Amino acid sequence: MADRSLRGMRLGGQSLQSEEGVVFSPRMTHTYLCSTCGKETEMVFSAEAEAPETWECKFCSNEAVLMIGSEPVVLDRAEAKVPRSHWDMLLERRTRPELEELLQERLDYLRARRGQHKIGA
Ligand SMILES: [Zn+2]
Repeated sequence: MADRSLRGMRLGGQSLQSEEGVVFSPRMTHTYLCSTCGKETEMVFSAEAEAPETWECKFCSNEAVLMIGSEPVVLDRAEAKVPRSHWDMLLERRTRPELEELLQERLDYLRARRGQHKIGA
């Protein structure tokens, strides 16, 4: 009995192959949940391929997020991970008036140099 049911399963598996002997790669259906309209978009991908974390919602064209089971995948986009710019770091160390003073000094210096250049030329 057990042996027969196993054989049946194996036959079922083989039916994935078409008559021409072409092997269809296994497919997986992934669900994307749109946070804008709340609707789900189902996409079929090859089981070997990694499904993208987001997909365009087919109802409203906004971004839909891949569902893993009943939970949407956590996107690796946390604000804290965005590297601070040099400008951000500068602002932490100096106040704006200080920066403006520095900028003015620098501009004066550049103007002076340009002036010297004109005299030299
Ligand atoms: Zn939508």
